[in-house]
Amino acid sequence: MNSVCVYCGSAFGRDPAYLAAATATGAAIAGAGLTLVYGGARVGLMGAVADAALAGGGRVVGVMPRDLVDREIAHPGLSKLHIVNSMHERKWRMAELADAFLSLPGGAGTLEEMFEQWTWAQLGFHAKPSGFLDVGGYFGPLREMIARMVDAGFLAPAYADMLIYAAEPDEALEAFARYTPPAPKWGGPPARDSD
Ligand code: AMP
Repeated sequence: MNSVCVYCGSAFGRDPAYLAAATATGAAIAGAGLTLVYGGARVGLMGAVADAALAGGGRVVGVMPRDLVDREIAHPGLSKLHIVNSMHERKWRMAELADAFLSLPGGAGTLEEMFEQWTWAQLGFHAKPSGFLDVGGYFGPLREMIARMVDAGFLAPAYADMLIYAAEPDEALEAFARYTPPAPKWGGPPARDSD
């Protein structure tokens, strides 16, 4: 594993624990010698993760659609900023550049990004791990919803089980390093990262 994509809020959230967790995540990624891939913004938790990774001497790569460069305020200090044409291209490029996906507390954008790449993993489009930094139980209701999908017969248990829930960033990075992908939903061998 060389790089981790972080999805998180473009706001800070109300609880100061969210900012502390974002800072700890950036520091942990840099400390582990990994590249941070993220949405490229200077605002909210997104900016805080990037600032902490840069402060820790890490490489930070942002991916932002042209339309958002001014609105989300592209981070000026990144190792590299990819400016792309659409949100679709953003998610695709972030998924391509990263070896694992970690979601921190955030809003609709965070969940949208996380769900898309999780569904790609189910389909075998990639074989990369993903999980949540569950700060203060923020993702508890989502975890319950995912368990409900399994109970209701809409999600195979293996695809619920592939998600990692960690209390600390280092715990998430260790779980990512140990990850073995499930077989993809429609059969065949799991996709390789290069597929
Ligand atoms: P939020 O969690 O809503 O604060 O959004 C976090 C990040 O997700 C921001 O950089 C948003 O621009 C981004 N985002 C929102 N909607 C989408 C989408 N449909 N596809 C990709 N990124 C998105």
